[in-house]
Amino acid sequence: MTNIEMTTAAGPVGVDPVVRLTDHRCLLVRAVIALILYFAAVAIEPARAAESAANVDAVRLTGADQDPANWMTYGRTYGEQRFSPLARITADNVKQLGLAWYADLDTDRGQEATPLVIDGVLYVSTAWSMVKAFDAKTGTLLWSYDPEVPREIGVKACCDVVNRGVAAWKGKIFVGTFDGRLVALDARNGKPVWSVMTVDPTRPYTITQAPRVIKGRVVIGNSGSEYGVRGYISAYDAETGEFAWRFYTVPGDPAQPAENPILTEAAKTWHGDWWKRGGGGTVWESLSYDPELNLIYFGVGNGLEWDQGYRSASQGDNWFLASIVAIDADTGAYAWHYQATPGEEWDFDAVQQLILADLTIDGARRQVLLQANKNGFFYVLDRKTGQLISAKNFTPVTWASGVDQKTGRPIENPGIRYDKTGKPAQLLPGALGAHSWQAMAFNPKTGLVYIPAQEIGMTYTSTKDFNPASIGWNVATATTNKTNVKGYLIAWDPVNQKEVWRANYLGPWNGGLLTTAGDLVIQGNAAGDFSAYRADTGEKLWSMFAQTPVMAAPMTYEVNGEQYIAVLVGWGGAYPLLQGRDASKSGNIRNVSRVLVLKLGAMASLPPLSPDTKLVLDPPPSTADAATVAAGEALFGRFCSVCHGEAAVGGGVTPDLRASGFLTDDGWYDILLNGALKDLGMVSFAAVLDRTKAGEIRAYVIQRSNEDKAASGKN
Ligand code: CA
Repeated sequence: MTNIEMTTAAGPVGVDPVVRLTDHRCLLVRAVIALILYFAAVAIEPARAAESAANVDAVRLTGADQDPANWMTYGRTYGEQRFSPLARITADNVKQLGLAWYADLDTDRGQEATPLVIDGVLYVSTAWSMVKAFDAKTGTLLWSYDPEVPREIGVKACCDVVNRGVAAWKGKIFVGTFDGRLVALDARNGKPVWSVMTVDPTRPYTITQAPRVIKGRVVIGNSGSEYGVRGYISAYDAETGEFAWRFYTVPGDPAQPAENPILTEAAKTWHGDWWKRGGGGTVWESLSYDPELNLIYFGVGNGLEWDQGYRSASQGDNWFLASIVAIDADTGAYAWHYQATPGEEWDFDAVQQLILADLTIDGARRQVLLQANKNGFFYVLDRKTGQLISAKNFTPVTWASGVDQKTGRPIENPGIRYDKTGKPAQLLPGALGAHSWQAMAFNPKTGLVYIPAQEIGMTYTSTKDFNPASIGWNVATATTNKTNVKGYLIAWDPVNQKEVWRANYLGPWNGGLLTTAGDLVIQGNAAGDFSAYRADTGEKLWSMFAQTPVMAAPMTYEVNGEQYIAVLVGWGGAYPLLQGRDASKSGNIRNVSRVLVLKLGAMASLPPLSPDTKLVLDPPPSTADAATVAAGEALFGRFCSVCHGEAAVGGGVTPDLRASGFLTDDGWYDILLNGALKDLGMVSFAAVLDRTKAGEIRAYVIQRSNEDKAASGKN
């Protein structure tokens, strides 16, 4: 309190100093007092953390932007921007980023979760809905929880037994389990406090979504639209688990009373006997909240059977499939919806992340909602009314020529409705989407949205005489994939609806995004390359090899004045499960499931990859001439083979370069010449190599990889 006394002492004795000060000085005094109170609060922070873990409430969550040290909900704030105001790690010093700690996970299925960090504790969910708490500074495991999901439930999974995150509220951590439970854990020890079954377990429902806590209630949806369920989203009291409200996304049996008045309207857009099999429309990923408008926003999945002939007699828009829906946060009552793909039959779930932002559009400040939809269009909506402000394709799109500004409906190209034509329909994007669940991020400083985009075409054909099965996948649409797949990161200007910069990757299914006030964009990719880019220009600044693909989005936090970046790594999810052959084109397809945590100047390194794992060789074509390859061979023998093996065949102690994810991008040069992986033991060779020589070595490794791939008889 010394500073306060000093400040007040500046006033004449016997007179209240604040009264005598000008308004300006008065503000100054208040600012100083606020600062002192802030530091006093910071000082008692560790004590509070020990007494009451995960001490998150409405004040802290709605004020998350003033508390950048913590990441207290899935998308960091209720607006899900995945922008961090932390700026200790910047575009200028990011090259010093190194591994602070890592933790191996006890599962090797797909890892898709974003961790939370609250007052120095990192909470993360993994495949099979398991939850772990770590000391965020040291990586010490504090507790571990396994809901013991029966493994046979895996048959209900279209897209791997993944889990995307946990929620926190007043001392509890919440996880949706793959078998449909919502479980509240004591944040101090991971012991269950309550558990409710949120689905009919006899139906093929699953949960992969991260719950969010809004106004003291845990909000959770589910998955299963390819299997035979009726979608909905529910809310439960965070203290007790008591059911609060439910919003169905598909009307039920018309002979029964509608659960919600809007469903009577919705039923007019459906035909046939859809309700017998549920109709689909699950809410399995996005969930945002605007406290000022008191609206919850979520995206709705595809229709069951895809083929609209089987679902709805090839007629109707089928509300609320493939829609963005706003509901009242207190009651779950309908507010508005925007249907991105009316009468969908191409697996165009509209569940991708919904970012809330305030943008200046045509000179006016607008409260908007942003989505890079699976169907390839980037939507900007007025989040008060649901009105379409603009829509533009962010990848090549062949199913629609655009979106009608007046009606908000897509302008469909002829021949895409295969149920009606009886002929195959070849579309881009396909069922894996131009953008899937991998989170995008919005940086208010650049005004850009960073999207993990992809091109995976698909041919859709109606199945004759389809009969749903009692178990497993129940889609009446046969699909074949186009093999010319692509994956890239794009920076998108949402006001002008145009691409600003792009980073190309080997193939699709790359990681979610983080952007920071340090002018950074951070993303891992399917080749295992975890990289930082300049947010404004896309210049690649730093990268490390994560030993395994990265699908999950990174997050960032601060402990004791140091900024950390955390990411869950490990390959899996829909793309490798559904298109394993193509997926190898994206790079390193090995799963090494871990939590990785980085900070400036850290020197830890990952353990060597175990030697017994079979390498998958998928190099780019060898296009260099013989002289270049020969020069590279000589250089490799001279400088590289001592660690990376004779003839570039790795021994398992260091990365096998034949399978390196860096063979086709600038990361190769970052490693050899800039020491990008020095913290993993791979120092810069700039003293003996220049860019030409590094390129010759790369040409040689590409050639060797192609030779061995051909010799092994692999495709
Ligand atoms: Ca789907």
